[in-house]
Amino acid sequence: MTGRLVLVSTPIGNLGDLSPRAVEVLKGCALICCEDTRHTGKLLSHAGVSGVRLAVANEHTEATRTDDVLGVLAGGRDVAVVTDAGTPGISDPGARLVQAAIAAGYPVTAVPGPAALVMALVLSGFDTTRFVFEGFLPRSGRDRADRLAEVASERRTVVLYEAPHRVARTVADLGAACGGDRRVAMARELTKVYEEVWRGTLGEAAAHLDEQPPRGEYVLVLEGAPAEGPADDEAILAALRMALEGGADRRGAIATVMAATGAAKRRVYDLALTLPRPGS
Ligand code: SAM
Repeated sequence: MTGRLVLVSTPIGNLGDLSPRAVEVLKGCALICCEDTRHTGKLLSHAGVSGVRLAVANEHTEATRTDDVLGVLAGGRDVAVVTDAGTPGISDPGARLVQAAIAAGYPVTAVPGPAALVMALVLSGFDTTRFVFEGFLPRSGRDRADRLAEVASERRTVVLYEAPHRVARTVADLGAACGGDRRVAMARELTKVYEEVWRGTLGEAAAHLDEQPPRGEYVLVLEGAPAEGPADDEAILAALRMALEGGADRRGAIATVMAATGAAKRRVYDLALTLPRPGS
């Protein structure tokens, strides 16, 4: 008899969303890996779970927690993995422990539950048949510029996470990359008292955030790029500017934008020549 590694989803704001099966699993395991023992301790006391060992497995310590976890599984007891909110492994720790358990041959399962990305997607009103989860964009530089260019040409609905103090900047950058007319849904404080889903264009979203600075946690859901025709000149120019501002040289920016938009090299090259040389 070996134990199982169980990823347990926890509420993203409303404690009522902790499922009865999640409570049952948390009560029955020998070890609960969490990001923050104080935070998870409060959830456990709310759920009436006591006497289970808690250990930190956050982005810095998840790898070093592996031996402990595998030892418990070898002893025939279950290990639960929770994070501060939502589904472990989604922009949160969890994946490394899953990989280690699979590699060592232990069963891995999950108690499904809240995930901000799914809730925001289904509330956005956009196409849910095909979508892309981008998580958090890189914060700056070439990586960010490249990713924004990819997002701009993505046909599927795109779901992004963002910290409240960076939402306005990300909405502005998305507007520069995709054009101000692209539609976006900004889902904030999901499952909480002040839950709100704001819908409009990226241009309107920037103005809205100017009037009402972001508060609480946000998921941004971006409508996919229109299917008809290749990117227009403005979108290509915006993507070139983003790549250049992110530190790419002209050749690199052209390559990035060609890959992201599918536009022909000659066209992207000619448009790049209308922009100031990088560093000038
Ligand atoms: N594992 C979590 C999940 O399953 O959704 C995500 C953890 S990630 C570190 C935190 C991000 O998720 C936040 O910055 C925000 O973008 C999003 N998020 C989490 N809770 C949210 C909520 N109640 N309302 C809106 N966004 C939320």
